[in-house]
Amino acid sequence: MLNETSDNSLIRNIAVIGSGLAGLTAAIFLGQLGHRVRVFEKSRGPGGRMASKRVADGSVDIGAQYFTGRNPEFLTFLERYAGRGCFGPWNATFGFQSAGDRWEPFPEETRYVGIPRMTAITRGLSEQVELTTQVRIARLHRSGDRWRLVCTEGREHGEYDQVVVTAPPAQTQELLAVSGLSTLLTATQPPGGGILPCWAVAAYFRDAPTAPFDAMRPDSDVLYWVANNSSKPGRNDAGEWWVLHATPEWTEANVDASAEKVCNDLLAEFRLLTGFGGTVDDSVAHRWLYARSASTAQPGYLWDQSEGVGIAGDWLVGGRVEGAWESASLLARAMQTG
Ligand code: FAD
Repeated sequence: MLNETSDNSLIRNIAVIGSGLAGLTAAIFLGQLGHRVRVFEKSRGPGGRMASKRVADGSVDIGAQYFTGRNPEFLTFLERYAGRGCFGPWNATFGFQSAGDRWEPFPEETRYVGIPRMTAITRGLSEQVELTTQVRIARLHRSGDRWRLVCTEGREHGEYDQVVVTAPPAQTQELLAVSGLSTLLTATQPPGGGILPCWAVAAYFRDAPTAPFDAMRPDSDVLYWVANNSSKPGRNDAGEWWVLHATPEWTEANVDASAEKVCNDLLAEFRLLTGFGGTVDDSVAHRWLYARSASTAQPGYLWDQSEGVGIAGDWLVGGRVEGAWESASLLARAMQTG
């Protein structure tokens, strides 16, 4: 039975796949419980979708823009394991455009960001775990009652009693399918239905544009999100870096477009939105094939006790940064009793 647990306090070897917030959270909690944990990440560094892109004089948050701290335990966790100075409130103005072009403020809520960049948080957390980067796990292979992880280079990594998968849904489903984990695969089908793509552009202006808010959700077919990255704490940019995210529909229709076309189209819409007629001094585009979860199902986590394989990630709890943490915390707790 999925998500069934029983008391089990033995020290175990555990592999975690993915070093986004969910993977790092799971690794830290499981490590705190005394288990031997190793995290495998396919990219060069940790962070996943809490990503920042290096630009000429600093960096810009190209993925997650901010996060909430509705569960105070989340903020306590970040303070304790990532460090008090690496995140703080983003004291900006936030507005959305309702039909008829009216701008309204976002509901009152403290919104947090990494300082001086979003990746400061996952960098801090990654110092608490054993991390192997640039290894993409392609398959889990049973060896007696242990798991071996096979990477895309064909090498086997370790022997683990348990494995935690924190990749986005399509990648998780692929891994489960080739590893013969059919019960978990079936359980991922409903919530895995929709994770939406997003073209993101970071644009630099020596002469700052004027806009009704620092961060905006326009009523636009092209732009989903527009924000002045330089208004976040600790950025200290000369001039301003803005982040533009395309809507999922526009991204889907332009998924194979060149970065140049994407920059041009998103910036043209930005000019229409703000009335800005000045020069764009630099721009860079990034395509997210997996950005935000559209799923409404919220199972929290998935844990197959008989296989010793668990799944955590934002897409199992509402598709946000705080959801990623929540999901991994719940899974770690379930694994301790199972
Ligand atoms: P991820 O961050 O995706 O981590 C998964 C990790 O697994 C990645 O590092 C990946 O490289 C790795 N991986 C995958 N497959 C393998 C494999 N086979 N082997 C090894 N490693 C693997 N959330 C908010 O709360 N607020 C926002 O404003 C916001 N804006 C967003 C804007 C954009 C453009 C995007 C892309 C996301 C946004 N989000 C936002 C969502 C937020 O980023 C995610 O909810 C959160 O970061 C997900 O964390 P995660 O650990 O679950 O997954």
